Amino acid sequence: MTRVRLRPEIETLPPYRQGKPAAADSFKLSSNENPFDPLPSVVAAIGQSGFNRYPDALATRLRERLAARHGVTVDQLHVGAGSVSIIAQLIAAAATVGDEVLYSWRSFEAYPLLTTVAGATSVQIPNTPEHGHDLPAMAAAITERTRLVLVCNPNNPTSTAITLPEFRAFMAEVPETVLVVLDEAYIEFAAPSVESGIPLLGEYPNLVVLRTFSKAYGLAGLRVGYGIGPEYVMDAVRSTAIPLSVTSQSVDAALASLDHEAELLERVHRITVLRDSVWQALIDQGWNVPRPFANFIWLPTGEDTARVAELLGEHHIIARAFAPDGIRITIGEPASIDKLLTATALAR
Ligand SMILES: *Cc1c(COP(=O)(O)O)cnc(C)c1O
Repeated sequence: MTRVRLRPEIETLPPYRQGKPAAADSFKLSSNENPFDPLPSVVAAIGQSGFNRYPDALATRLRERLAARHGVTVDQLHVGAGSVSIIAQLIAAAATVGDEVLYSWRSFEAYPLLTTVAGATSVQIPNTPEHGHDLPAMAAAITERTRLVLVCNPNNPTSTAITLPEFRAFMAEVPETVLVVLDEAYIEFAAPSVESGIPLLGEYPNLVVLRTFSKAYGLAGLRVGYGIGPEYVMDAVRSTAIPLSVTSQSVDAALASLDHEAELLERVHRITVLRDSVWQALIDQGWNVPRPFANFIWLPTGEDTARVAELLGEHHIIARAFAPDGIRITIGEPASIDKLLTATALAR
């Protein structure tokens, strides 16, 4: 059969297939979702906007609210349909064929994918033996072709974190013509030991910080995140957006979440307390697990990854296996913890 011509680098990507839905008695701990049901006040806010009309293309109300909160101008702020879409827009704005996008590996699976889609080339710097970013090696790998560096803090999937002094030392080594994107999708779970880079925006003219409502605020299904950076960079990001992709409902939900933030951050706190107890239990079982800073933990199972993931599955724990490196397990419902720790004890 005759085939249409597609870009070869896109055709060779593994096709996306949805994972098996978790059986009713399983815990889905594979997507770093927030296990709490949405707040009734947030659900009520979504119902207020009609959907026969297009949304405000610039999500102005949310940008104004966030700009005031972070002490930046409204034009420094861009709202996207999840911060993943802003990563795609930033790469599209900065890099094309022949350009390099540099990041730590293993890190967020979307980084290589979005780089390839933009036609640019990925440069992956191996994590340290402690599973975190090797910032000096990343800085040393910057070349004439580097257009964008992604720093994921805390890092998905290893849950490690870098401190602000470490990040500052890194920024001092990066040429100011190279865009640095600090992806803080999980930063709320790292407080208070790890601080956000947003206060550094005034210091570095080549920095963009990304945040999302998907994880700590529990709005993953609604798709809303934001980026803050220099106005001209964010203007370029706006130029690469798919028009009108942020819905009125997601904006309403984000605004309502900010209204009820204390309640949501209390939940974040409960997740982090549970996370630290799971981490300690795994250490007691003899696992070598890096200290977690996000809402998930990393089991560095190496060549044993498939076997351990299967054993977890037999105990109704659906985790995300990244063979041959390790397994990422989201901290979800408290009821999942006994099953999880029983399985990990058997896997030792
Ligand atoms: C989840 C995640 C995001 C953002 O996801 P959205 O739902 O698109 O906002 C960004 N970066 C990392 C590393 C993530 O894990």
